[in-house]
Amino acid sequence: MNEITLLASDLTRRYGSHTAVNGVGFELRQGEVLGFLGPNGAGKSTTMQMLTGNLAPSSGSIEICGIDLLERPKAAKALIGYLPETPPLYRDLSVHEFLTLSAKLHRVPRKQMSALVERAKLRCGLDQAGGKLIGSLSKGYQQRVGIAQAIVHNPRVVILDEPTVGLDPIQIREIRELIRELGGEHSVILSTHILPEVESICDRVQIMHQGQLVFSDSIDALRRYRQGNTLEVGLRHPPAPGELEAINGVSRVEAAEDGLWRLHFAPGGDPTDTLVALAAERRWGLFRLQPAQTSLEEVFVHLTRSEALV
Ligand code: ADP
Repeated sequence: MNEITLLASDLTRRYGSHTAVNGVGFELRQGEVLGFLGPNGAGKSTTMQMLTGNLAPSSGSIEICGIDLLERPKAAKALIGYLPETPPLYRDLSVHEFLTLSAKLHRVPRKQMSALVERAKLRCGLDQAGGKLIGSLSKGYQQRVGIAQAIVHNPRVVILDEPTVGLDPIQIREIRELIRELGGEHSVILSTHILPEVESICDRVQIMHQGQLVFSDSIDALRRYRQGNTLEVGLRHPPAPGELEAINGVSRVEAAEDGLWRLHFAPGGDPTDTLVALAAERRWGLFRLQPAQTSLEEVFVHLTRSEALV
């Protein structure tokens, strides 16, 4: 197993009587891209700010590559790169000037400065944009600059808070690709409220809900969880719902959009074979049959209703 680059234990943050983050603990390993997923208000930003040393936890501890962030903040922070939800960009500086400034703030030694700035530009696809004013760049390119400032000092851990918010679909694809590439060399944590984002970029996912971790597993496990026990069925000549409900294994039938049906079944009671046979025999005109993906909202409802899975 790769080295642990970030270890958070029992992190809690209170605002007055409100507990925004409650007993969150997890680890991140070298080369991993970990997604923090949760609806707005779940506590993702508060967690990110604590992990980057920008907000003191009410209790709990954080280690970056074995260095205690609260006891030795300077040494630990040197190993972290952070892109906050609102990137701290100076619109009147050129890309090159801003990245040089960021490198200075991160205490990059003078001798390495120019090489590291060039490398960050190259890695973020900004090599042609060094002389441009940040204010004149598109939002997608500004976000590249935000990511470049987070990696310019070559940190071990890169933390990105909602990195694709406000971008158009093409920019989103490019930024996601860039983040995936960063995962090779750094460990990356990103927060998002978009399920496909996590599924397309991350190796592992942690779902937060009301300040707590309610799911922590691989992306494959999340996919399996989402596939659940539901079939999406399209029938050109559907029978009465009662007839579908009577199929062995089916526990509930639900009309879905576009004339489709959702057939829920008990674990181990997959009714696919029977359904196909009956549809042919009774001429229901079966034109679609696929495992239904639960939406993010359904995942949250399910997770928070059942026992937490961490
Ligand atoms: P997310 O990033 O998942 O949207 P946040 O971490 O921003 O969630 O917020 C978690 C909870 O903490 C929310 O209920 C929010 O209202 C509350 N909160 C966040 N920052 C503050 C603050 N500075 N003062 C008081 N409450 C806050």
